[in-house]
Amino acid sequence: MAEDTLFDKILRKDISADIVHEDDDVLAFRDINPQAPTHVLVIPKQKLESFADLAEADPEAVGRYMGAVARVARQLGLEERGYRIVFNTGPEAQQSVQYIHAHILGGRQLTWPPG
Ligand code: AMP
Repeated sequence: MAEDTLFDKILRKDISADIVHEDDDVLAFRDINPQAPTHVLVIPKQKLESFADLAEADPEAVGRYMGAVARVARQLGLEERGYRIVFNTGPEAQQSVQYIHAHILGGRQLTWPPG
């Protein structure tokens, strides 16, 4: 059975978070350790453990998730200057919470390659 992660607890409101958006499909909240002036995490309410699980997911649900990520970035005012979406996936990418989450990073000049 999947582990009850920190983000399951945030979704259930057992742990508080700075929520910036919620709808039927997703919850978006500010990262507690921001790596950019704007750093928000977006999780689907229908749990998947990592980006890799999207390979088998319902394409319609995947589309709703991706659309929601783009709308949250727009709502945060990042569209004009640009932003980065990151899905850390698995050990070498240092995924630390086993609940899929899109990082939205923006509000500063981002560098490439990432570390
Ligand atoms: P990852 O390393 O990609 O799994 O990202 C997990 C993210 O969750 C990190 O950027 C953490 O700073 C963030 N995080 C950990 N605890 C919390 C929390 N209580 N509220 C919001 N973000 C958190």
